[in-house]
Amino acid sequence: MWCRRLLSSSLVWARPVAPGGGGHRAHSALAQLTRILESQLDAIRGAGTWKSERIITSKQGPHINVEGSPGGILNFCANNYLGLSSHPEVIQAGLKALEQFGAGLSSVRFICGTQAIHKALEEKIARFHQREDAILYPSCFDANAGLFEALLTPEDAVLSDELNHASIIDGIRLCKANKYRYRHMDMRDLEAKLLEAQKHRLRLVATDGAFSMDGDIAPLREICQLAQKYKAVVFIDECHATGFLGPTGRGTDELLGVMDQVTIINSTLGKALGGASGGYTTGPRDLISLLRQRARPYLFSNSLPPAVVGCASKALDLLMESSAIAQTMAAKTQQFRSKMEAAGFTISGREHPICPVMLGDARLASVMAEDMLKRGIYVIGFSYPVVPQGKARIRVQISAVHSEEDIDHCVRAFVEVGKQRGAIL
Ligand code: PLP
Repeated sequence: MWCRRLLSSSLVWARPVAPGGGGHRAHSALAQLTRILESQLDAIRGAGTWKSERIITSKQGPHINVEGSPGGILNFCANNYLGLSSHPEVIQAGLKALEQFGAGLSSVRFICGTQAIHKALEEKIARFHQREDAILYPSCFDANAGLFEALLTPEDAVLSDELNHASIIDGIRLCKANKYRYRHMDMRDLEAKLLEAQKHRLRLVATDGAFSMDGDIAPLREICQLAQKYKAVVFIDECHATGFLGPTGRGTDELLGVMDQVTIINSTLGKALGGASGGYTTGPRDLISLLRQRARPYLFSNSLPPAVVGCASKALDLLMESSAIAQTMAAKTQQFRSKMEAAGFTISGREHPICPVMLGDARLASVMAEDMLKRGIYVIGFSYPVVPQGKARIRVQISAVHSEEDIDHCVRAFVEVGKQRGAIL
């Protein structure tokens, strides 16, 4: 009955216009929807902010093939920081998990979606970060969507850096806590907001560990000092840090020596840790237990597929066996940053493999990225509204598996294109 009703209502859309009938009403609604969509799409095109997607026809890696570009392309715009996205052992681990545990669970975790490999990966993530426990999500976007609402009530306060990732902003929107937004990495402003927030039961300071648009690293030592002074809990999003920042790749908290002062970490399995997908929260055991009971993306979305779990688990094994890959990042990042600066470019941030080449003008960023592709280098220009007006840039991302020659090749191409377009002298 239900199916038949559904079928007949969907048929209305296909029926020719019958004046005065249900078909007419449905059709005019469709026409109205189409007009709204067209005007929104035109506005995006008109603003010059249309994002088109290039189609990769090979595995992800430092060398890729891109549809429409003959020959191999050097890839400098993936979050594949350690090159594990197509590491043979990671792929084998994914295949093995697929064979042994199947394609997927057809269930959320608490119904019948928990396999031994999910528990083992959670335990491994907690061990990697030296925290008590961890919980997996379909993505870090979901981890950020689940955390704040489950943890904070109207009695509490959350203090968030103004340039935090969209998923933190959305997660905070979902919770009923009192919201304070402090100026980007501005410790005076954070202190003022912490003082104001003393009236609330609990204070949570939320920041990206590393900011993906500017390649800058949160001043975690200072944040932790303020958190101690004003009794606040510190949360960091480590998507652009896990696996490669710090001497053993544990992240920003390790880099800045505050692993014992950051209470909650969210991160992704979709960047340095094999690049498939998935996210997690790691922290105190009771917090993780609460999230299993309350976090909506965990309760109402399917379990991570076994192949994805297998890949991430192997990526963590590789990192825990040796810090060698993580340690090559710093030298390669330095090679790119220093050669580009010597050529006259301004590179935002410091020490992070996200190296934004600051150009200012949106059109210049876009044409230079196109020119780079013609020279076999894949980079992307970012402009407003993704970054502030007048701060357009090309974001270059260094990976541990770029060779020194790859990096020199990229710098040479930037210098050529930059001179032609008048970006440098
Ligand atoms: N947080 C930050 C800082 C990110 O850069 C991203 C991804 O771009 C996310 C969260 C979302 O991660 P995921 O792709 O696992 O949903």
